[in-house]
Amino acid sequence: MGFFNTLEEAGRGIGAAAKDAAKTAQLNVRLKDLDGKLHKEYEAIGQKYYKDHPDEDTPENRKIKEIFAQIAATKDQLADIRGESICPSCGEFVEKGAKFCSHCGASLVETVDEDDMTVEEPETKTEDKKED
Ligand SMILES: [Zn+2]
Repeated sequence: MGFFNTLEEAGRGIGAAAKDAAKTAQLNVRLKDLDGKLHKEYEAIGQKYYKDHPDEDTPENRKIKEIFAQIAATKDQLADIRGESICPSCGEFVEKGAKFCSHCGASLVETVDEDDMTVEEPETKTEDKKED
């Protein structure tokens, strides 16, 4: 009988371990999901903050602006290779010679040299990328 008891216990132990493993995996997935959600919320706050304070001279804003500039430069290179242009309004790739942006509908006929918004810093091309 002692043998059976041991086997039974062992069996129960394996079942419990499997249950624990399944539960652990489930909880890990949930944690990862929640972590992702938290990350998205933080990101949204950061984006909102940047939109509300684009001209604030902080290291974070400078980093963001630098990345925007790098994105613009990279997109320019890509557009060149693909034989496309970049919409100055929304920054999406558009067919070269198109009259309107197929993404935001902005007119592409004239290059934006005079707009309601004045571009203060010529070195940061991201200034003219207002979406509002
Ligand atoms: Zn556009």
